[in-house]
Amino acid sequence: CGIVGVVGKNQATPVIFDALRRLEYRGYDSAGIATLENGHVERRRAAGKLDHLASVLARVPLPGVTGIGHTRWATHGAPTENNAHPHGTERVSVVHNGIIENFEELRRELEAAGQTFSTDTDSETIAQMIDYHLRRGLSPREAAHETLKRLEGAYALAMIFAGHDGMVIGARHGAPLVVGFGENEMFLGSDSLALAPLTRRIAYLDDGDWVIVTPGGAEFFDMAGNAVTRPVRTTALIA
Ligand code: GLU
Repeated sequence: CGIVGVVGKNQATPVIFDALRRLEYRGYDSAGIATLENGHVERRRAAGKLDHLASVLARVPLPGVTGIGHTRWATHGAPTENNAHPHGTERVSVVHNGIIENFEELRRELEAAGQTFSTDTDSETIAQMIDYHLRRGLSPREAAHETLKRLEGAYALAMIFAGHDGMVIGARHGAPLVVGFGENEMFLGSDSLALAPLTRRIAYLDDGDWVIVTPGGAEFFDMAGNAVTRPVRTTALIA
């Protein structure tokens, strides 16, 4: 029920983990983090409390300066480690909050096209569709856009791509997502509270927006793929 993304200069995993703690109040049943390590997607996941994920990370650390994290409130598929996000392949890793209403139809289509699913979630459909488009030669931004056009339902998304260190793509439709602006470091989060100790400079995605986040800034697009501008606001200092 929470999403975090980080791209920049510092180790991503501790930053993401702390931000997931600040999203715990939303409730969740499992959690996970993925990073890019020398261009490869790596992930750690755990059912249950964030403490469980913490012990997994203590046993098997997860380096990298680009990453995404998730706390899950299961809607499709039991709250197991295998169904915990991030989902994906060796090419892409995706975290999703919300529900994809047409996932059964999309899953059938993708399986017929040769994609192999490994979870019971609606969310994996998103990752598999992006992977399908990457396999047929589309760039990450093209693959993300083609996929978003097909999704029905509610989503906030963050994704990373093998071979594309320094980039996180986010999207929102019916579920909240904000972009945080740091110094040569950028963030995605479900709300400004998650990012509060990291930055107070926040841009809100409109419904249907998607965004390409790099250490230098953010490029916003609408559902049709047109570049749009979204104002950066400075949030009040609370607590
Ligand atoms: N529908 C997705 C799942 O069950 C995402 C749930 C959430 O919002 O955390 O995995």
